[in-house]
Amino acid sequence: MGASERRGDVALRGVVAMDGPSGTGKSTVSRRLAQACAAAYLDTGAMYRAATLAVLRAGLDEHADCGEMGRAATGARLESGTDPAAPTVTLDGEDVSAEIRGPEVTGLVSAVSAVPEVRTELVARQHALIEAAVTGGGGIVVEGRDIGTVVVPDAPLKVYLTASPEVRAARRGRQDAKAGRDADLHATLADVERRDRLDSSRRVSPLYAAADALVLDTDRLSADAVLDRLRELVAQRGLDG
Ligand code: C5P
Repeated sequence: MGASERRGDVALRGVVAMDGPSGTGKSTVSRRLAQACAAAYLDTGAMYRAATLAVLRAGLDEHADCGEMGRAATGARLESGTDPAAPTVTLDGEDVSAEIRGPEVTGLVSAVSAVPEVRTELVARQHALIEAAVTGGGGIVVEGRDIGTVVVPDAPLKVYLTASPEVRAARRGRQDAKAGRDADLHATLADVERRDRLDSSRRVSPLYAAADALVLDTDRLSADAVLDRLRELVAQRGLDG
């Protein structure tokens, strides 16, 4: 952790909305930004993944209809922590933070997150967590696909991270290898492109950059460089209370 990243150097006020497809480094920099700014952190992708695990545990697969998926996902007891030092998600009381990163969940999550009832339910939970974090002048970094467009359209800072599919697949592969999961680059690239297609073309809350989002291409930017840019933006917008 560099000198510019000491916890609590500045205290974020309000919401930073971080959107973009998978493999752009969004989670890494969102968490680090939250830590650097003594803010809360919400990984909405983890919520959709936990809902997907609930669907799988109900014995459903990609052939299930939307209604069945919706009932299984919204009936589950999901809890998301907002501490950037230890972001956890539980399903019916069990910590499933590692299991939701596995291939079964990754393979089905775009289908489950396209179900309107699932989105309505999870967005309501996201609003409650965001509200709790900002009440009393606090801040929260929220990452996902629709944060700046749907969840918090009036966020004072919206950032949309992009990178080429090849760079994103390589990053994903490194993360998988580090976590001890099988990492085949071709399969990872195919999965990145498949999820891009599904997430961008779905009817409800598709992935796109809000008109007022700052778009950052991270192909040639390190996580440190992206973090520095974000901290500058937080200061420029007067969000460092
Ligand atoms: O961010 P992550 O790759 O973990 O997200 C997993 C999936 O969850 C995405 O591919 C997308 O289908 C879904 N998602 C979503 N809306 C969000 C966050 C994630 O639809 N706000």
